[in-house]
Amino acid sequence: MATITFPGPQAQDSKKTTTKYVYFFGGGKADGNGKMKDDLGGKGAGLAEMTNAGLPVPPGFTIQTEACREYMRTGGVSKEVDRQMEDALAKLEALQGQKLGTGENPLLVSVRSGAKFSMPGMMDTILNLGLNDKSVEALAKRSNNPRFAADSYRRLIQMFGNVVLEIPKSAFDEVFDAKKKKKGVKLDTGLDAKALKEVIEEYKKVVKKHAKRDFPQDPQEQLVMARDAVFRSWQNERAKTYRRLNNIDDMLGTAVNVQAMVFGNLGDTSGTGVGFTRNPSTGAKEFYGEFLLNAQGEDVVSGVRTPVEILELERIMPDVFKQLREITTRLENHYKDMQDFEFTIQDRKLYMLQTRNGKRAGLAAVRIAIEMVEEGLIRKEDAIFRPEPDQLVYFVVPRLDEKDVKIENVLAKGLPASPGGAVGQIAFTAEDAVKMAGHGTEKNPVILVRAETSPEDIEGMVSAAGILTSRGGMTSHAAVVTRGMGKSCVAGAQEIDVDEKKREIRVKGQILREGDWIALDGSTGRVIKGKVKTVPPDPSDMKLLDKFMSWAEPYRTMKVRANADIPRDAINARKFGAEGIGLCRTEHMFFGEEKIAHMRAMILADTEEARRAALKKLLPMQRKDFDGVFRAMNGFPVTIRTLDPPLHEFLPPREELMVNLATLQYMDAKQKKSLVAKYRDYGVKRAGDLKKVLPLLLKRVEQLHEVNPMLGHRGCRLGITYPEITEMQARAIFEAAVAVAKDGIKVYPEVMIPLTATVNEMANQAAIVNRVAKDVFEEKGRTVEYMVGTMIELPRAALVAGEIAKEAEFFSFGTNDLTQTTWGFSRDDVNKILPTYLKEGIIKQDPFAVLDQEGVGQLVKMATERGRRTRSDLKVGICGEHGGEPSSVEFCHRVGLNYVSCSPFRVFTARLAAAQAGASDTLKVEGGRTK
Ligand code: PEP
Ligand code: MG
Repeated sequence: MATITFPGPQAQDSKKTTTKYVYFFGGGKADGNGKMKDDLGGKGAGLAEMTNAGLPVPPGFTIQTEACREYMRTGGVSKEVDRQMEDALAKLEALQGQKLGTGENPLLVSVRSGAKFSMPGMMDTILNLGLNDKSVEALAKRSNNPRFAADSYRRLIQMFGNVVLEIPKSAFDEVFDAKKKKKGVKLDTGLDAKALKEVIEEYKKVVKKHAKRDFPQDPQEQLVMARDAVFRSWQNERAKTYRRLNNIDDMLGTAVNVQAMVFGNLGDTSGTGVGFTRNPSTGAKEFYGEFLLNAQGEDVVSGVRTPVEILELERIMPDVFKQLREITTRLENHYKDMQDFEFTIQDRKLYMLQTRNGKRAGLAAVRIAIEMVEEGLIRKEDAIFRPEPDQLVYFVVPRLDEKDVKIENVLAKGLPASPGGAVGQIAFTAEDAVKMAGHGTEKNPVILVRAETSPEDIEGMVSAAGILTSRGGMTSHAAVVTRGMGKSCVAGAQEIDVDEKKREIRVKGQILREGDWIALDGSTGRVIKGKVKTVPPDPSDMKLLDKFMSWAEPYRTMKVRANADIPRDAINARKFGAEGIGLCRTEHMFFGEEKIAHMRAMILADTEEARRAALKKLLPMQRKDFDGVFRAMNGFPVTIRTLDPPLHEFLPPREELMVNLATLQYMDAKQKKSLVAKYRDYGVKRAGDLKKVLPLLLKRVEQLHEVNPMLGHRGCRLGITYPEITEMQARAIFEAAVAVAKDGIKVYPEVMIPLTATVNEMANQAAIVNRVAKDVFEEKGRTVEYMVGTMIELPRAALVAGEIAKEAEFFSFGTNDLTQTTWGFSRDDVNKILPTYLKEGIIKQDPFAVLDQEGVGQLVKMATERGRRTRSDLKVGICGEHGGEPSSVEFCHRVGLNYVSCSPFRVFTARLAAAQAGASDTLKVEGGRTK
């Protein structure tokens, strides 16, 4: 495993005599405060702040993050940490009048992680610590509830066993499930004290078997072991993945909070719950959340039992409800943001366990930002930083097309956990979802179906189009995580029986298997059978977004364009506010029904003459496409790239042709007929033609075959070896431009030459484009303004950018190829390596998704500077996938690019990321997306 070097203690520490590692809170006073998130973590800072505000918080202490970093550096903590922890424990014991795990009224504590940035469920927690064979008896007596005491103890052994002693959860689950089966009960609550005592004995055997030691009976030993395990959990796989996905610095470490236990499972006058001060899906200002009577916190979030709405609490315990509302409103006003809180009621007494700024869906993020400004709680300047740019994808994600939803196909109704429609093929494990969807692609949409998700499923959730769970509530793991991702989720669809082993779901007497299509409506909770169509988002939400954007946009200095190849996408891009097209990949235009045949004829031609004849047929088709794109972009620039991919991509695969040719003589009439249809574009009209055409076709395919096509005959090398292709494309561009200009359309074509490495290539292609432009303008008696520039997508191009700028009037960074060629990673095959690299921490992020600022970014910066030294007004943009990724957009702003260009659905994201970057400068707000 890769080791991470943690920085040593800060310099000032050496001057101090001792570092303060442990911060106490309780009795209305805390050593720390809400601002100390770096040291105390979000949870610890929140507990300190709530204590200082006089809220009912169970007392305890926070061991600060420096102790975690120390643990990572040295594999242990210093004596000083132990000493300060002992002092704090003594203080806690004195305050409570109890002793940890001893006496008639034993003190029990929770031990929880809490980093600077919230990482929900990614690290570990241990509850009921201090229980042992003796103190469990005392607890039973004291609470007059032997079942509760036994249940608390078995939970401790289970959590401690899993988290501290690293025993698989399943080892405990098997024991527990077997016991439930034996006693004929369905719910955990169905097991009585006697049954739970039997479970405890069996759990102890599980510990002995797996950990080769007894469950520790000494409460102090439990505490030290639990603290260290929580420190270690900072480095577990799911925490690492979460940090990678959320740009959180690996070096921060977590704090540990040790807090006196309060019990929500003391009977029906106790309970526990979680809630939000506003609706996290829609943003509506309503008290929102859920709770369970007679339960411990983990039951609500893990989704083991489905909780009830928090408003029910008003009926059951009106006073507690009123107090909770008052406290949470105060917290929201104090933090000036929507709060996500946890509480426990022990015998009708309310305790606050946590408060933090709540995670929310895109719609909610925007609505809350706007409404808080209108309520006078925050300023517009604060509001613009509230939504994460990625969340705006919500406003452009599709919904299910109701016309395509048949009532009889509605399989179940779960909770509307995260809005938007998703359609895909069923996958039952995170691993399968990744495999079926392909890493980070949207080509093969998958719906990940689980009984409940856990943090281990994170990679699968990233790959899936939507998530369906049969258990859990609105605050279950699946719900919280998908909402942050802007991904559709239906949770707690209880009618669905998920059999992950058999890889099937059973619902309404039907069986659906892996690969079957289903649709989710994350806004209503419906689960629907079949490949339902989707429709674009609700225009009324768009009004909200427009209002929000009107506050953010004035800070944006960079333009945002879209990558779009066809008129329909260009029209969409304009709707989302794209200020031009940054990349029109002309090869996509050739894949249409009719066009591909002419394209193939052109490629198969042996002579220039034959090639020109085929190109002549393509010319009007290409002109028509450009015409449509220009019209959609009236008044905005359109960057059109000349042909880029290797030509063999338009022909059948070599191996397939070889097989067809070799087996031709054994084929019957029916098989030959299907081959005739397959090769019709290549001039095969009847079966007899196959014998003649297939060998010729194979010969040409072999001529074009390359071992490394990505480094081969592609980009400007095509236009240089076949100048007539560039000629035809330039003609189509200028003829279309002149034609639309005649109709009063403002057109600004920018012809872009791909994959140049030297100024001579650029000069060669620019000469063709300029010559054709002149010819067309003369023929048509009209001119249009235009530019000729290049993509910078090879390291050499970046190095000699100063030279290339002599011929190129603009640059656009093709960071997909630039990443490929700088790293020497094949962009199509990198997935064989990437998962290991990410897991081992060799690289932090997929460099094809998030711009590698350290390496590729240097080339971008350098090429921009060198290009502008030659041509001070050089227009520079980016059109690789990074153009829509927030941290990359911020980088582009910093190095002075004129625009970013991204796929249409990310235009809002890029606009907000660019606006936030601009606002950080103007308002002198601490910027930077790397946390
Ligand atoms: C690029 O390389 O970044 C680019 C935009 O071009 P393509 O993805 O078509 O190679
Ligand atoms: Mg490229």
